[in-house]
Amino acid sequence: MEVKNKIVIVTGAGSGIGKATAIHFAKFGATVVVSDRQEAGAKEVVATIIKDGGKAISIPADVTSFEAVENLVAQTVKEFGRLDVIVNNAGIGPNLLRTHQSTLKDWDKVIAVNQTGVFYCMKVALVQFLKQGGGNIVNIASLAGLKASPNNISYSASKFAVVGMTKSVAMEYATKNIRVNAVCPGYTESALLTQLINAKPEMDSVLKSVIPMRRYGKAAEIADAVVWLASDNTKFMTGQTITLDGGTSL
Ligand code: NAP
Repeated sequence: MEVKNKIVIVTGAGSGIGKATAIHFAKFGATVVVSDRQEAGAKEVVATIIKDGGKAISIPADVTSFEAVENLVAQTVKEFGRLDVIVNNAGIGPNLLRTHQSTLKDWDKVIAVNQTGVFYCMKVALVQFLKQGGGNIVNIASLAGLKASPNNISYSASKFAVVGMTKSVAMEYATKNIRVNAVCPGYTESALLTQLINAKPEMDSVLKSVIPMRRYGKAAEIADAVVWLASDNTKFMTGQTITLDGGTSL
């Protein structure tokens, strides 16, 4: 995949899909800024990439802080002179409560990370992309951003928002050499899925029963699609969502 020498930020890259994505970009020759709100996981990912001969640094950022996001992009540009790709992956999971039982705190927290965080990252990256004459955004949405997702109100709202923002922003900048696409994973092995199954162990068999392939996705399988969307192999593609879900949406 054609991402060699691209400068790429991946948010929430200390674990799960973000970690796999950072490692995958580096494998194809990109320079990766591994960003997470906690530095320990991100630093481990950087060490793995460097051990395998790749290029990466870590810049911590909590995507709910506009200043932190500004600093992330500014530091990246200071270090490498430009930013080619931002993957807005940082996200937190659902609380599995019915809407009338859900809390205002949960709503605010999930929207702050999954929705406002993606807006902040796009807003700041776009300023840089316009300055340098182009760039590429890949947002990590979810199957929950395309289909009904009961007992999941804040997560559902945030992921539908990510899909909507992806399409709207793609149209705004289509003539500016800036592409915006989204990946919609189905149930994928990660800390987020483990947390969901730990909260309700019976969910494991329930979830697998609705996946036609009868298995969860692997983070590396999602990473493949992210890197492809960010690559020069998809130059005519913008405003699209790619679903990787073992057939669940069918
Ligand atoms: P994960 O393993 O929990 O990874 C999410 C990462 O984001 C964690 O390192 C987390 O850090 C970080 N993060 C959380 N809040 C943040 C913040 N405010 N600022 C910066 N980083 C933050 O989960 P994952 O499954 O890989 O999730 C990645 C993305 O895929 C999310 O957007 C999620 O909604 C989406 N997704 C996942 C699935 C699935 O089944 N796994 C399905 C559809 C979509 P902490 O560990 O400190 O919280």
